[in-house]
Amino acid sequence: MARPIVAIVGRPNVGKSTIFNRIIGDRLAIVEDKPGITRDRIYGTAEWNNIAFSIIDTGGIEIDDEDFILKSIRAQAELAIEEADAIVFMVDAKAGLTPADQEVAELLFRSRKPVIVAVNKVDNIQRQEDVYEFYSLGFGTPIGISGSHGLGIGDLLDTVVENLPEKEDVDYGEDVIRVALIGRPNVGKSSLVNAILGEERVIVSDVAGTTRDAIDTPFEKDGQKYVLIDTAGIRKRGKVYETTEKYSVMRSMKAIERADVVLVLINAEEGIIDQDKHVAGYAHEAGKASIFVVNKWDAVEKDEKTMQNFTQTIRDHFLYMSYAPIVFLSALTKQRLQKLLPVVNHVSEQHALRIQTHVLNDVVLDAVAINPPPSDKGKRLKISYATQVAVKPPTFVFFVNEPELMHFSYERYLENKIRAAFDFEGTPVRLLSRRKS
Ligand code: GDP
Ligand code: GDP
Repeated sequence: MARPIVAIVGRPNVGKSTIFNRIIGDRLAIVEDKPGITRDRIYGTAEWNNIAFSIIDTGGIEIDDEDFILKSIRAQAELAIEEADAIVFMVDAKAGLTPADQEVAELLFRSRKPVIVAVNKVDNIQRQEDVYEFYSLGFGTPIGISGSHGLGIGDLLDTVVENLPEKEDVDYGEDVIRVALIGRPNVGKSSLVNAILGEERVIVSDVAGTTRDAIDTPFEKDGQKYVLIDTAGIRKRGKVYETTEKYSVMRSMKAIERADVVLVLINAEEGIIDQDKHVAGYAHEAGKASIFVVNKWDAVEKDEKTMQNFTQTIRDHFLYMSYAPIVFLSALTKQRLQKLLPVVNHVSEQHALRIQTHVLNDVVLDAVAINPPPSDKGKRLKISYATQVAVKPPTFVFFVNEPELMHFSYERYLENKIRAAFDFEGTPVRLLSRRKS
């Protein structure tokens, strides 16, 4: 299931990042416990009234120009309009309605996306009156909030969640593998798309995707159907802002959400940068299968150690994604290109793999026998049984006496045992603990 994407838009200093941090607050703490996940958050995930969504603070898209502020917020608004499913338009009760707010409102108005006006810095009851002038923006009832006092956030999230559209995506059917290619500009995404489609025995279908703004490419090879999910990087639109990291990451989010398998392209000539980590981290958290594709392998001077060293570099930078295979290739010379689709097929299978409960429990019993759960404050975790409750990604529920006794390190141990027994190459797996009733 693709999670909806919510974007926060607004002038600098209205409090976007304050609210963003409040909304993802709890979740942030959990994520940061895990090694290797970057601290500098561009996006976050949140859940409200049982609805999970991604949220991005579009602030800080910086454009070097004398009309700096106006251009920057225009860029934010355009990005949000194209990529988000709902938009939180944040304004400032202390500053009142400004011409820049009105300009953004006009852009958002034409988008026909749900827009929720959040009036921040409503720190007390008196300020509540300041909310009314924002009715004139034309997006219905503005919601008064205070980021610094934590007021009104629940009302805001109620409204956001109510306004999220039902996800309507093209239904390609269960037997089609949806593949997204992501990576920074110039890493070779369009070259790789063309190389794949130009391969022998590839049959490109001319049925275009029917979503409003996606141009997907369905094709077939050796009896397997695929769809290449377009990202803006491939379309070469909006190149102006694409170099800003936040912009590029957000461009990838929707494609990742729609994919089964994400190809994380890395430039062999340049190595790994933060942006690669942000998009890979997003794919991981979204529960997608991933493959690292090291492109431009032709351009690298190699000896017998080069591939091994590059592999180690990737492993060091993406500690939490040790499950993802690495393919070295050249989109330009097509060297090693034929290795790619078989790996896509394999990780896609692993992503959808279902383990029978009795087989799973044999493995879990063995694991517990070899390395019993540690005790904490005199209490020992007791695992009654485990069962796989979902695929894409494979998700396991452990029924236990006390879920709080399941520590991250023991969970990691169980995950490793499950991987050793069943593979699951290329896919994240999720382990949940529930109290046995
Ligand atoms: P952004 O540029 O839109 O991301 O804004 P920030 O989140 O960085 O906030 C800008 C300034 O407004 C900071 O000094 C915040 O402490 C302050 N601020 C944020 N929320 C509130 C609020 O609810 N009330 C008041 N009085 N100040 C706030
Ligand atoms: P995109 O922005 O990620 O879509 O990247 P492009 O596909 O437009 O490629 C950017 C540049 O890198 C172009 O000049 C390509 O010719 C070049 N390029 C792409 N793949 C390779 C490759 O495998 N090897 C080399 N040497 N250059 C490549």
